[in-house]
Amino acid sequence: MKLNTKALRHLSSEDWRVLTATEMGSRNHELVPTPLIIQIAGLRSGSSVHKNISTLAKANLISKMKEARYDGYRLTYGGLDYLALNAHRKASTVYSLGNQIGVGKESDIYVCASPSGRQLVLKIHRLGRISFRTVKANRDYLRHRSSGSWMYMSRLAAQKEYAFMQILRENGFPVPEPVGWNRHTVVMDLIDGFPLRQIRSMPEPEKLYGQLMEMILRLARYGLIHGDFNEFNILIEEKEKTSAPTEANPDPEPQIELVPTLIDFPQMLSTSHKDAEFYFNRDVDCIKRFFQRMFSFSSDEPGPSFADAMAQDKSDAKRLDVEVQATGFSKKMAGELEGYMRFVGVDGDAGGVADVEDEDDDEDIDEYTANSDDDAQVPNVEQSEPTNTGHTRSDLASEMTV
Ligand code: ADP
Ligand code: MG
Repeated sequence: MKLNTKALRHLSSEDWRVLTATEMGSRNHELVPTPLIIQIAGLRSGSSVHKNISTLAKANLISKMKEARYDGYRLTYGGLDYLALNAHRKASTVYSLGNQIGVGKESDIYVCASPSGRQLVLKIHRLGRISFRTVKANRDYLRHRSSGSWMYMSRLAAQKEYAFMQILRENGFPVPEPVGWNRHTVVMDLIDGFPLRQIRSMPEPEKLYGQLMEMILRLARYGLIHGDFNEFNILIEEKEKTSAPTEANPDPEPQIELVPTLIDFPQMLSTSHKDAEFYFNRDVDCIKRFFQRMFSFSSDEPGPSFADAMAQDKSDAKRLDVEVQATGFSKKMAGELEGYMRFVGVDGDAGGVADVEDEDDDEDIDEYTANSDDDAQVPNVEQSEPTNTGHTRSDLASEMTV
C-alpha cells in the first residue's frame, strides 16, 4: 500500500468535504450510503457532488464494495492517509513530504519537513496488512467487535506510540521528540543515524551494551518493558565528544561516541503485565544475541533478570505505565490493541522486514472509526519516488519537494 500523493494538490474543497463525510459516515456504516455522504457533506444532491465522488474514487481514496446491496462508498487507506496529511498540514506540523525510508511489517516511514524546514519522520501505521494469511484472521477477529477495524487499530497504535514517546521523552529517555499525531500517523524528529543492525563493527561494544542494558533496567524502574527492544529499533548516531583538557592531556582529540535512540512503541507493556517476565527476558536476550553474533561480545555478568529489574530501588522513578493513561490512551484501548496484535500475530521486528504485499486496491478494508474535525483545504504536500536506502542529513535535504 503506497502513499500516492499525486492527487493531493488537485482536490477541491468540496472533494475534501466529501472525503471527510465518508470518514464520518464510516463510524456507523461499513459501506456509507451515498445519500448519507451527501447529507453529512452538507452539499445539495443536485450539485457537483457526484463529480466529487467520482474524483475521489478514481484517486482510490474511497471505494465501492463489490456485490453491495445498496449504493455507497467506504474510505480506503489512501483516503485516510490524505485526511491525516491534510490535518498535519493544517496544524503546521508537516509542510512537505520526502522519500520513503522504511517499510516495516506494520508501518511505512517517510521523511518530511515542517514549515521551517525542520526534518521530521512521518510514521504511518498499517496494522493488519502483514500478509494474505492474516486477511482471514482479521476478518474473523473484527467481525465480532463493534469498535474493531484495521484502520481503528492502526489509529490506536499511533496514539499509543505518540503517548509513550511523550512521557518517555519527558522523563529523560532517549527517544525521538514527538511532534504530532493524527489518525493512524505520528510525526517525530528525524534521527540522523542508522539502525544498530547496520553497524558491523565498533571499538568498544561493551560500552554500548552496558548503556542498552541500563536502558532496559531504567524502563523497568519506571514500570515499562519495550517489548521489541532489538537491533532494528535502536538507532545509532555518531557524535563527536571532546573531554575536558587535563594537565596530562591539555589538548584532547575529539572522540566519536555512539549515541542510541530507542524507537517503535506500539507493543510497549507494563511490568505488571502477566507476561512481563517473558517480554523482559526476550528484550535482554535479543541484545545479548546480537552483540555476540555481530561483535563477538558477551558480558561476564549473567542477566539482568526480571527479578533483578523488579528489585531495583524505584524511589526516583514514576510509574509511567499508569501515567500514560492521563494522555487519553486508556487501559481499555491498550487491551483492544493488544488483543488484536496478538490475534493476528503482530510480534515486532525480531523476525526482520516482512514480505509486504503491495496492493493497490483496498478490497479488504473494514469500516474505520475516526474523529473528523478538519475542514477541507488543499495541502501543500508533494512527494518524490520512494527509496529504501540509508540516509544522511544532506541527502534528505535535496530530496525534499515543497
Ligand atoms: P516498524 O513498527 O514498522 O518496525 P519503526 O518505528 O521501527 O517501524 O521504523 C522502521 C524503520 O524506519 C526504522 O528501523 C528506522 O530505520 C526508520 N525510522 C523510524 N523512525 C525513525 C526516526 N525517528 N528517525 C530516523 N529513522 C527512523
Ligand atoms: Mg521497528
